[in-house]
Formats: sequence, C-alpha cells, structure tokens
Amino acid sequence: MPARWLAVPLLNRQLPIEEVGFTYEREDIITTMRPPREIWEAALGELELQVNKPNFRTWFSKTTGLACEGGRFVVGAPNSFVTEYLERNQRSLIEKTLINLTGGNIQVCFQVAGRQPSAAPVERSRPTDNIPSFNPRYTFESFIVGSSNRMANAAALGAAQKPGGGYNPLFIYGGVGLGKTHLLLAIGHMCQASGRKALYVSGERFTNEFVKSVREKKADDFRNKYRDIDILLVDDVQFIGGKEQTEECFFHTFNDLHHASRQIVLTSDCPPKDLPLMEDRLRSRFEWGLAVEVQTPELKTRLAIAKTRAEAAGHQIPLDVLELIAKRARRSIRELEGCLNRVTAYASLVGKPITTKLAQKALANIADKTAGGDPSTPSMLIEAVADSFQLSGADLLGQSRDKETALARQMAMYLLRQKNGFSLAEIGQELGGRSPATVSHAYGKISQDIENNAYLRRKLEDINRALKPPSK
Ligand code: ADP
Ligand code: MG
Repeated sequence: MPARWLAVPLLNRQLPIEEVGFTYEREDIITTMRPPREIWEAALGELELQVNKPNFRTWFSKTTGLACEGGRFVVGAPNSFVTEYLERNQRSLIEKTLINLTGGNIQVCFQVAGRQPSAAPVERSRPTDNIPSFNPRYTFESFIVGSSNRMANAAALGAAQKPGGGYNPLFIYGGVGLGKTHLLLAIGHMCQASGRKALYVSGERFTNEFVKSVREKKADDFRNKYRDIDILLVDDVQFIGGKEQTEECFFHTFNDLHHASRQIVLTSDCPPKDLPLMEDRLRSRFEWGLAVEVQTPELKTRLAIAKTRAEAAGHQIPLDVLELIAKRARRSIRELEGCLNRVTAYASLVGKPITTKLAQKALANIADKTAGGDPSTPSMLIEAVADSFQLSGADLLGQSRDKETALARQMAMYLLRQKNGFSLAEIGQELGGRSPATVSHAYGKISQDIENNAYLRRKLEDINRALKPPSK
C-alpha cells in the first residue's frame, strides 16, 4: 500500500501519490458534485457489498444522505441507536467508501433524520437534470472478472477513470447476456459518482428520441441533451444501423463529442466491421478507438458469479448445486441467473431445502415449459426453418444458391442469433461453415425485412409453432 493518497480532481479518484507525481489542491471538488442523496445511494451500493447482509439490513437500509458541504457528509438515520452504532463501528468504512466515490477528503457525521444538520445543507450540486441515477446494482465491484471478460473490464474501468483520455470510442461487443450492459452501466455509475455527467441510452431509444424530436420540431433540445455531457454510453448501437437519418444524426453527435474529447462507449452484438447495415463512415469511426470482445464465460467464472449472486440474495445454496447450475448454464450469465432463480423459486414453492436432486427437477421441469427458443437446439431450429420453406435441413447447410433456399438460410441465421443468442461465428459454423460477414449480412437483411414483409412473418409464425413443445 502506498503511504500517501491524493485526491485528483481531474479524475475525481484517489490515486497513490507516487502515481500522480505532483500535488494538486482544490477545495471545491466536493461541492461540485451530485446531491448528497444520490452520493449516499451510490455509497450504499458499495457498502452493501462489504457488509454482511443482516448487518446491512439492520444498520444501513434506512439511512439517507442529508448534506454534503465543505468536506462534511451528513448521514441521516432513523434513531440515535443507529447513529451511535454507525459512529462507533462503521465510520472508517463509510469514510473510505465516500472518499473513493467522490475523490474528496470527506468526514462523515451521523444524525437522526428529521432534524436539520447544524450547518445549513446548501446543495450546491452540479445540475444533472433529466439524467437519471445509475442503478447501484451494476458496478465494477459487482462484476466478476475472468479470462472471458478481463480485457473488456480493464478497458471499461480505464474509460471510467479517465474519460476521453484513453481509447475513444471504446467499443464492447459480444453475445447476449455476457455483461456488456453491466459494464456500460458500471462506467456510468462510476463517472456519475465522481461528479461527471454520464448519459446512458440504448440504440433503440436514441432512434425513438430522434424521430420524436424531428416530429415535434425539438431538434435543439435533442441536440443539447446529447452534447452537454461528459460521457455518452450507447447500448446495442447495432439498432441504429439502417435508419438513415438516425445514423446521420448519430454521426454528428459522435463527431462533436469526440472532437471535444468526451468519452464515448458503445456496445454491440458484433464487432464494428460486421455491423449490419451501418454506413461505412460510422463503422470506421467505431474502429478509431479500441474494440474489445466479451466472450462466453468459462466454468470457473460462471461458478464464481453463481456463488456471489446466491450470497447477495441471501440464499444458502450448497456448492454442488451451484456447480450443477454453472455447468448447465453454458451460454451466458443471463441464463445462469435464470437457472439460479428457477431453483430458488422452486425450492420455496415446494418448501424444501435446495439439493442437487431438487435443482435437477426444477431445471428439467421448467425447460419443458419454456415456449420457443430456449430449449431448442440449433439443429432443431434449422429443421423447423427448412420445414416451413418445404426444404430439408441439409439444403440449408449445402451450397445451393436458389432464391428460396438462400432466404430460408438467412432466416435460420437470423433466428439463431435472435432466439438463441449465438455469435456470428457460431452461426456460420452451424450452417455449413459460412463466414461471420455472411451471417451478419443475413441478420441485417432479415431484421429489416421482417417488419414489413408478411410472407416472412407467416414463416416466422410457422417456425415458432413447430418449435413449441407439445402441451401436456
Ligand atoms: P448483455 O448486455 O451482454 O446482454 P448484461 O450486461 O445484461 O448482458 O448481463 C446479463 C446479466 O448478467 C446481468 O444481470 C449482469 O449483471 C450479469 N452479469 C454479466 N456478466 C457478469 C459478471 N462478469 N459478473 C457479474 N454479473 C454479470
Ligand atoms: Mg445488453
């Protein structure tokens, strides 16, 4: 541990003094931040991970952030019993957490809420109008790192600690449920906690807001909203592709922010070069910075996540059950969470302790009942698609370029991605060794056509019907 720590206003983080190399003093760091209520919420998110569950519930759950002025942070508690306990036992942990979050040198004091703190609690916070707080559930602290996401995690942390100062844009890509949104929100959370204006938006929402702003002639509002920020976080940017005017608008937003050295972080389900329907000029900009992939987590990471999740939820789940779940949920963390939830819900439903036998039953039971995608294997899906076009599965894997076969093949590619969350490369493999670029093209084409093409939609209904397990 370095001997001295220093608050660095530029980064709003504490860094070991030898890493900074110079001293820098500013007294206004703390007062230029978010309202105390929000800072405290962020702090609670961190504290929850450091204090055991019953303790957290008893001592922290009813506390609030009352004021933050001149380096003094006032925490409100429901009664003097709690304030005394916190004062005696948790002060240093709380201060450490607040200092980490704000980069300021903070002294904490506790008081029974309802009473006014002695110093007038002027909230000189930076306006964050219209910018919602980030969910404290998605932080770097709660993100488990393994070889599948180490690079992405490091790059995201770098962007959060030094926005605009490293890779810009940072482009995070990978399959469904692998933690892209989590990382994006963690960046937002950390930046916001350090007093920066971070804006999170999904590609879909950006599109809708843009369309609305044009319709309602509020282009200026829209423009300002996306310029007056320090960090822009765009989730699932692939949705912007193919919508000409939205792309154009995004292009300008990107340029303005980038020019002003504001950090841009994007996520997508594929690397920039494979983005379906995206204009080249945008695609090439996405490649200016760093593109990192999140991959499917290996068993070790899945097990670690399962353990933490179970603990955080206060469930006692034996290790062999966690192993069973981690082994079974191979594809993504979302699937892993789904399995965990099923098992715990089933156990409480039947009122029995969680054992491997019960877990197996819970998972088998529910897999049967899920309609459509989840339990269908790629070959089942390919067969169902082929069938709906009156072709065979072998036709789709083969070389025929006949129009109908090509369309069916593209449909299968689209659905393997949409329903089963396979990566472009995996889909290419499943369909007779085709390139990711071919799959990406097919995905883009079908996602665009399916909205307006009744023929394709009918096929989709046939396919869904064929995949639905027979009702018992
Ligand atoms: P994506 O955006 O890639 O589809 P998400 O970020 O939504 O995936 O992740 C799905 C779920 O899995 C979320 O609840 C997220 O918190 C969790 N998750 C993903 N990766 C991790 C990880 N490495 N550690 C802890 N939780 C994770
Ligand atoms: Mg996501």
